[in-house]
Parts: sequence; structure tokens; C-alpha cells
Amino acid sequence: MSFEKLGLNQSILSAVRKKGYEKPSTIQTKAIPQILAGRDLLASSQTGTGKTAGFTLPMLQLLSSRTLGKKRPIRALVLTPTRELAAQVFDNVKTYGENLDLRSTVIFGGVNQSPQVKTIRNGVDILVATPGRLLDLHNQRLLSLSQIELLVLDEADRMLDMGFVRDIRKILALLPNKRQTLLFSATFSDEIKKLTKEFLNNPAVVEATPESTTVEKINQRAYQ
Ligand code: AMP
Repeated sequence: MSFEKLGLNQSILSAVRKKGYEKPSTIQTKAIPQILAGRDLLASSQTGTGKTAGFTLPMLQLLSSRTLGKKRPIRALVLTPTRELAAQVFDNVKTYGENLDLRSTVIFGGVNQSPQVKTIRNGVDILVATPGRLLDLHNQRLLSLSQIELLVLDEADRMLDMGFVRDIRKILALLPNKRQTLLFSATFSDEIKKLTKEFLNNPAVVEATPESTTVEKINQRAYQ
């Protein structure tokens, strides 16, 4: 399988090429066509499987294919459990979207909100956020989630482990019903299954375990 065959456009393919990836990982091969087709997705996938590009590449393509209004409402929201992961996802969005006319930003707690608010006011298509700060800014009426077309719940199991379930439910209640939802989780607890049943619409289910790698400097031989 090649990235070209997954249906990604040239702007995105050229950013992928620049990263030096030779072929899509398992999760990317399985998830990207489903997301591009507009389906909800339930993905069992851990860190290290390439899951971030698995949702970022098709998200960028879907957003860039539609015409943009001048005001640029937030159309895609990626929720992550920690600020580190949020920063990492935002980094991916910037890297893969470098050839596209899309704006994005990241918000998380523990830092001054003013610069975050200013960037959002100027218009962003994609917002990467941790649940607490997102609700905080929403409660202050500093951002609107009424135009969200695509929601990604990244590392959903960790978000629940960290006690974000009430926040997630609150956020989901603020989003339009007509949207595409992608849920990534390493494990499937009853709570995750419940969320899936409630908030995903006939999702495609994809699985990927981390690909095992070998250390190049170690010579390996097998004796029968
Ligand atoms: P993730 O699972 O999203 O945290 O990604 C793990 C690492 O794999 C990151 O360093 C990515 O840059 C890298 N990666 C993602 N997709 C590919 C690919 N198709 N080929 C090689 N490396 C990749």
C-alpha cells in the first residue's frame, strides 16, 4: 500500500513525503479511506502506531476541500487528555498542513489564556484542546463550537482514566448532532463502549497494534 492509493491529495502527499515516510502504517491504511468517506470511526490504537497522522491527514483533506468563509469558524476539534499530547497533535497538524490554507491552534490549561483567546478570535479551522481549558473558554463565551464538523477524541481511555468523562459529555452536548466523530483508544472499557454507543453513528471499526521493530545494530540469526 502507498500513501497515493489512500486518496490523499498532492498538497498532503508532498508534506508526507517531506517527513520521509515510505508507506502508511496499518492504522493509516485502514483508517484514512474510512475517514475520507465521511464515516465515524472507532479505532483501537496505541501511541507508536502512527495514529496521529491517521486522523490528521484525512482531517486536513476534508477541511481543505470545502470553501472557507471569511470568518473561519472552528470546524474541527481534537480533544486530548494532556497538554503534551495536545502540543504533539498540534505539531502534526502544522507539519502535514503546511501546504494548505488552513489555520489551527492549541489550547490547554496551566498557562495564560490571553494568547490562546487572541488566536481563536482571529479565526481557526482546527482547534486542538484539553477538555478543561476548552470548557473554561467556552463558559466565558470566548469560543463557539456550533460549527464543528469533525470531532476527534484522541486517547479516549486516558481521558476517562483522568476523570474527564463529565467534561467530555458536556463538550459533546455543545456540538452539532450532524458531525463526523473519530474515537481513538488503546483499550475498550465499558465506559468507552457506552460513549461509542451514545455518540458515534454506525462507526467503521479499525484495529492496529504497534508494529514491532528490531534494532538495526543487532545481528539476528535463527538456528533450527
Ligand atoms: P503516533 O502513533 O501518531 O504517536 O506516531 C508515532 C511515530 O511514528 C511518530 O514519530 C510519527 O512521526 C511516526 N510515523 C507516523 N506515520 C508514519 C509512517 N507512515 N511511516 C513512518 N513513521 C511514521
